[in-house]
Amino acid sequence: MRNITEEYKDNKTKDQCLQLQCIECQRETRHKVVQSYDYSGSEVFNGDLHSLDWESHYQIIQCQGCMTISFRQVDWCSEWEEDPVEILFPKRTKHTIRSKDFWHVPSNLRRIYHETIECFNNNAYTLCAAGLRALVEGLCAELNVNDGPKEIIKSDGNIEIKRLTNLEGKIAGLHERGFLTKAHSDVLHEHRYLGNEAVHQLAKPSSDELTLAIEIIEHIFNSVYEIPRKALDLKSKRTKRRKET
Ligand SMILES: [Zn+2]
Repeated sequence: MRNITEEYKDNKTKDQCLQLQCIECQRETRHKVVQSYDYSGSEVFNGDLHSLDWESHYQIIQCQGCMTISFRQVDWCSEWEEDPVEILFPKRTKHTIRSKDFWHVPSNLRRIYHETIECFNNNAYTLCAAGLRALVEGLCAELNVNDGPKEIIKSDGNIEIKRLTNLEGKIAGLHERGFLTKAHSDVLHEHRYLGNEAVHQLAKPSSDELTLAIEIIEHIFNSVYEIPRKALDLKSKRTKRRKET
């Protein structure tokens, strides 16, 4: 005969303190369980000395540094050899990138940016590289950068400047028009190959390469769209103040 007992309890794990990754602080911080709903069960077979036990905890947790609230679920079973399974919502690890709010970036670019970071955070690195490539292409289209210079060393050793209309040319064009520093354009040139290779040869780009390329895109978003807008807002506030005095 089997005998199963189950129990649902409020706040059985409340006030528990845990060291967990914080999505806001982007590192491990002390979290406190502020509310929980806890389920446990046990099954005993007739004549058996041992029971089969299981537990699930559903916890609202709060970072004790930045006070951000999130959710943690932990499942455990006495039959498992491994540790309890922990799931955090929103999903995060120490490599998770939090996508930033760019209010003044055109919506199509913003959408591709968020999708690209989703791919990164879900380890879809090939698609993330393709997304970064689409972002560079989209930026060039928005900024009317259609080509750029490329130095070609001829057989006699002389250097000829050709204008290219492919992605390589466009990245050079972004630098030429002052949207991109030389150092950043060099990295994106690397990334251009990375994007090509990733998509056409199914090579897996590394997370470090992708993180760097994402940071450069964020830098361009800031310098092209966000900072000029903030400067404009500041100027209009100053003019308004001057009129009032
Ligand atoms: Zn935090």
